[in-house]
Amino acid sequence: MIPAVLPTYARADIGFVRGEGPYLWGTDGRRYLDFGCGVAVTSLGHAHPKLVKALKDQVDKVWHVSNLYQIENQERLAKRLTAATFADSVFFCNSGAEANECAIKMARKHFYAAGQPERFRIITFEGAFHGRTLATLAAGGQAKYLEGFGPKAEGFDQVPFGDLEATEKAIGPATCALMIEPIQGESGIRVAPPDFLNGLRSLADKYGLLLIYDEIQTGVGRTGKFMAHEWWGAKPDIMSVAKAIGGGFPLGACLGTERAAAGMVVGTHGSTFGGNPLGTAVGNAVLDIVLADGFLEHVVAMGQHLKQQLAMVAEQHPKVIEEVRGIGLHLGLKAKVPVGDLLAAMRREGLIGIPGGDNVARIMPPLVIERTHIAEAIDKLGRACAGLAP
Ligand SMILES: *Cc1c(COP(=O)(O)O)cnc(C)c1O
Repeated sequence: MIPAVLPTYARADIGFVRGEGPYLWGTDGRRYLDFGCGVAVTSLGHAHPKLVKALKDQVDKVWHVSNLYQIENQERLAKRLTAATFADSVFFCNSGAEANECAIKMARKHFYAAGQPERFRIITFEGAFHGRTLATLAAGGQAKYLEGFGPKAEGFDQVPFGDLEATEKAIGPATCALMIEPIQGESGIRVAPPDFLNGLRSLADKYGLLLIYDEIQTGVGRTGKFMAHEWWGAKPDIMSVAKAIGGGFPLGACLGTERAAAGMVVGTHGSTFGGNPLGTAVGNAVLDIVLADGFLEHVVAMGQHLKQQLAMVAEQHPKVIEEVRGIGLHLGLKAKVPVGDLLAAMRREGLIGIPGGDNVARIMPPLVIERTHIAEAIDKLGRACAGLAP
């Protein structure tokens, strides 16, 4: 019999009843150290007092009004996001896939409005993950997710991740944009090579294309910069953000320069819930914390310490962990045992990580962790590895 909840997820046999900071309490009565953050979503930990207060205060005022009216929280969040990034304008939605849908529409509409409607194709990269809607699945190009859902949405061409030459070769008269995650998250924390984003920027400028970054997983402080692409330096024309921007409240955003967004006039796009007063109240509280003096420096320091400690565990257990990779607190352990076994062993020790492609366990702790939490995690990971070693 089909379960009441559509069985599209392979769920672990545990739920959680409460969270506080980096900890979760399970239905089994145990306490867990959450180094997954609901896939890089609860980046400020659980029940952060400032986020709780921001949401509660807004709950007592007004929950929802249509985007047919002025929404003060939304306008304030947009102004702060544009001030902190390359962008001039922001569209709000509720999820990552929707943010990417807007990015794709914005790029295509830019060329349509510029009198070049034939330019609608977007070059994406092997191993990409951009979401589960029909267009974002086509953008991601992963056969295992596309199979069975009818013809793949038209207009996406894929080239190997990190290959500038292949990218340039794939550019044709119908190409309108290049779209990339600076660090591929779902496929196992694959960091773009050092000059790659700058190379893509040059190609975009040379051929008059728009450059789109998907920073849904990497943005809002995860790597120790507000946006991960700042480590490379090359700016995009369009960027999608979601996950951590809402701290656990569903919120997504598509940011663009004035030039890139030129086609998105009244009536061209919309969302019933996008940018509603509750979500954007939390989004503003998230920015209060992430953009405060010293916060990103803390992420960098914790990231360096954690990566070094993880490397020590890997050295002690070479038959379990092959490699540690990633930037800031967006880290991955490439496992030598099946990654499901490693994650299960970690969970038995009370440590939560997230599976990724390439047999990688993603380690994405809250950005507010301290050295004591890292010591605790390393202790648990070490014991998990010792139990697995052949
Ligand atoms: C999670 C993710 C998405 C999809 O976000 P949803 O909120 O699940 O729609 C898209 N791109 C990247 C890079 C992601 O990590």
